[in-house]
Amino acid sequence: MEINFEFRKLVMDHHIEPDLIKYCYQCSRCADNCPVTAVTEDFYGTTGYNPRTNILRALLGYKNLLLEQDDLVIWGCTVCDTCDEVCPQNIELTEIFTFLKNQSIDLGKGPDFIYSQAQAVFDSAKAIPSQPAIERRRDQLGLPKVVAPDVEEIQTLLKNIGANKKLK
Ligand code: SF4
Ligand code: SF4
Repeated sequence: MEINFEFRKLVMDHHIEPDLIKYCYQCSRCADNCPVTAVTEDFYGTTGYNPRTNILRALLGYKNLLLEQDDLVIWGCTVCDTCDEVCPQNIELTEIFTFLKNQSIDLGKGPDFIYSQAQAVFDSAKAIPSQPAIERRRDQLGLPKVVAPDVEEIQTLLKNIGANKKLK
């Protein structure tokens, strides 16, 4: 295990309240309440998804244990925010997990499904492009027609933040 001090500092600085993450005392309340940990099963954080372990690894600067592992290690988080709600130290875990995901994308190591979903947003301005079956179902339910998004405008916005350069 290699400590990456620069990465560690980035993590510390990223939290909305700098350095608060270091007050994590590994109580595991986040992991106990995480729905993803419950189904990927790993209380001790050696396999599966575990927010407690991720906070510890981020705090210690173990970049390679976070960003050079199975996709599940950081991308398993669904950002349901339960861990943020239950952490007794008021650590905003999901802020750190979003930072980790962004780091993963910067390194070109995100999972394929993320790139394909981002490409769909870029191409159609929708995460789920419309389909005839969806339109029919909406009609049956008496829902109004979905207004088509301005794809060009969305693409301009995405280009302005450089998101198009991160697509594969
Ligand atoms: S609930 Fe908070 S203090 Fe407890 S292990 Fe998780 S991040 Fe650390
Ligand atoms: S936000 Fe992520 S880590 Fe936290 S409880 Fe939900 S799935 Fe688990």
